[in-house]
Amino acid sequence: MQVVQYIYSKVYNLSAKEEFINDAKSGKILARKCTKCGYLHLATTYYCQNCGNRGFENVHIEGKGTVATYTIITVAPAGYEKYTPYAWVVLKLDGADLRISGFMQNIKSPSDLPLGTRAEITGYDERGLLIEKL
Ligand SMILES: [Zn+2]
Repeated sequence: MQVVQYIYSKVYNLSAKEEFINDAKSGKILARKCTKCGYLHLATTYYCQNCGNRGFENVHIEGKGTVATYTIITVAPAGYEKYTPYAWVVLKLDGADLRISGFMQNIKSPSDLPLGTRAEITGYDERGLLIEKL
């Protein structure tokens, strides 16, 4: 399974970015579904990675899943010091072969966040996608 990191400035045009952010604020993830085979993509793409089809439709996936992996940040980049410690989490979404990464507040050590912990998307701001434990 491929880890896909959402980089909105590169993969979405402005209106899609707004739609993605609005979805995230209501706990959902905007994805692109192949109209031929149903394969889901997080990023805008011209050809389906599964079947090569060029047709897609937007779908709104429930932003809930399980923690697949993460990195604990104790030395934050400039401007993010106030958020430490935090984790940059890869969340495997329920019912889809999709992983998405985001910010989880107040994770100090691996004992705070066992792999497989249930979590959900709760918003979007300067930190990116916000993820909280369920
Ligand atoms: Zn397809």
